[in-house]
Amino acid sequence: MPKLVPLLTENDIRKRVADIARKISSDYADKQLVMIGVLKGAFIFMADLVRCLDIPVEIDFVRASSYGDSDTSCGEVKLQGDITADIRDKDVLLIEDILDTGQTVQNLIPALECLGPRSVKVCAFIDKYERRQTDCHADYTCHSVEGGFLVGYGLDYAEQYRNLPAIYDLKLNSARE
Ligand code: 5GP
Ligand code: MG
Repeated sequence: MPKLVPLLTENDIRKRVADIARKISSDYADKQLVMIGVLKGAFIFMADLVRCLDIPVEIDFVRASSYGDSDTSCGEVKLQGDITADIRDKDVLLIEDILDTGQTVQNLIPALECLGPRSVKVCAFIDKYERRQTDCHADYTCHSVEGGFLVGYGLDYAEQYRNLPAIYDLKLNSARE
């Protein structure tokens, strides 16, 4: 049976999202902020984050998939669809659920840079650094963790668990561990 080991409670999440929203509101006070969320995983984080900002913000989403119905990456990132937001001369903050190997962000940044933004930075709800293969980093993050496979708060395993309000480390086959 899979086991869900609690990592961040709803309360932890609320506090950390409010903290980075405060930093972002201050850093982008004089800028033209466009937040671009990476679907599907970032949808809940993005919704919470924008509601804690006290500066104007435009939002858009892109879709990228690197994981099938598995908990290990196939190493290939597929971007689906075009970026439709007008980001020319604007300050883009890419919103990710988890920064893991860094492949997704590494693929998305050049695609965004082609559209002439003034700046592109990365905000990842969780920075999971054990498997990083690129020199990508998160400019803003709510939590850093070495490894594990996390679910809840938008994050799935085989499309399940996204609706859980807290973050858990999913232990598959926990009976045999
Ligand atoms: P990267 O391209 O940085 O390796 O991975 C980024 C994407 O892989 C994340 O946006 C997320 O969708 C997925 N991913 C990476 N680690 C985890 C994890 O621990 N749990 C879940 N549910 N997805 C993950
Ligand atoms: Mg993702």
